[in-house]
Amino acid sequence: MLKPVDVIVAGAGIAGSSSAIQLARLGHRTVLLDRQEFPRHKPCGEFMSPETREMLEVLGLDLPSHKLAPVSMDKAMIILPHGGEISAPLPGPAIGISRYELDRLLHLEAQSAGAEIVTKAAVTGIRKLDGGLYEVEARQDGGKVRYQARAVIGAYGTKKPRDLASADEEAKKDTVYIGLKSHYSGIRTQNQVELYFCSGGYVGISAVEAGKANVAALLTLDSVQGNGKSVTEILQAAARSNPRLATRLASGTPIAGSQVSMAPVRLSEVPQPWSDFPHIGDAMLMIPPLCGDGMSIALRSSLLCCAWSDKYLKGALSYDQWQSGYSKEAAAEFSRLLKRAGMIQKLAFARTNRLYPGLARMFPGLARYVVKATRLSETGMARQ
Ligand SMILES: Cc1cc2nc3c(=O)[nH]c(=O)nc-3n(C[C@H](O)[C@H](O)[C@H](O)COP(=O)(O)OP(=O)(O)OC[C@H]3O[C@@H](n4cnc5c(N)ncnc54)[C@H](O)[C@@H]3O)c2cc1C
Repeated sequence: MLKPVDVIVAGAGIAGSSSAIQLARLGHRTVLLDRQEFPRHKPCGEFMSPETREMLEVLGLDLPSHKLAPVSMDKAMIILPHGGEISAPLPGPAIGISRYELDRLLHLEAQSAGAEIVTKAAVTGIRKLDGGLYEVEARQDGGKVRYQARAVIGAYGTKKPRDLASADEEAKKDTVYIGLKSHYSGIRTQNQVELYFCSGGYVGISAVEAGKANVAALLTLDSVQGNGKSVTEILQAAARSNPRLATRLASGTPIAGSQVSMAPVRLSEVPQPWSDFPHIGDAMLMIPPLCGDGMSIALRSSLLCCAWSDKYLKGALSYDQWQSGYSKEAAAEFSRLLKRAGMIQKLAFARTNRLYPGLARMFPGLARYVVKATRLSETGMARQ
């Protein structure tokens, strides 16, 4: 069976579903494929920077006034393993909303824009054919379904579809992380995001809707070996090297069914906006979660990519212009940010691991850097 459409978006997270909204609104027959069933929990700090909120507004999602009542935050606090803390105001109000709800709301928008969403459909291969067409193969309904599309957008997050993953990448010797999260009841946060450094990584706590707190962590895979298998056990083990985190976790109760993890997570060294088709979000660039900007990058790259893809689909650009236009713009937009974010990640890990005297004095700079320097420019596309 071959299904002809204008565009296939592979992956229905924040990057993919926001692309489906835009392309369907522009009149393109759009199919959004995801291997998971929704709504679903996703390992994420669920801290939405001011830029993310603004870009969602452009897509028609006005979160601050939504009936779900997401939480507003105006302060960031870093808590070091020995108990010292640094606070800094956020450059604008941030929002806490679960990915369970956010991705569900984006899917509703995509559907009302006319996109078709197919879940439990794992993309296994994307092939560029002669004549400007793509063939996308998905494992779906217990069999294989093949789609034919004029354009494809890769929005599948950090893990490439099976046929596209290269052995080189898997064999890389870089640091490999695990990302995980659990919602808790009973942990009260005061309009702030809290970042706890601990052995092997960091744990973020911030409020989401309905009085729940989200606890998310990025830890090196090495550091979690032998620390239990469940998300709750791993979080408790991480808290052994940060007593204030242990106290915080003990004040709440994990909410059953909200625990999820992803591994291996590899942080990007350079943006990878293209491989026969455009990539967006984490598929293009995985930034250290410490920066709280992954969702913002997902949305920004989706906005950029959809503008180029729309022109290509309407015949105003050749394939080469589509490729070079988006690739150049994405590289210019994200390369510097990624470099700075990588430095912060290294600094954070190196400092906390050594715990030498005077550490706390180093951190006010880091706190400001984390909160401000890694943010995408607030004068971005959202206002254009
Ligand atoms: C521990 C942690 C904490 C974080 N905290 C924050 C934070 O506080 N704030 C922030 O802004 N960012 C944060 N991030 C980053 C943020 O979660 C990501 O940048 C963002 O989710 C990227 O969106 P995406 O749509 O590209 O990918 P995803 O949200 O991962 O979506 C990808 C989708 O593709 C689907 N998929 C994958 N493979 C296939 C396939 N073969 N076929 C079909 N579908 C497929 C998946 O099921 C998934 O639904 C955090 C990340 C981690 C790991």
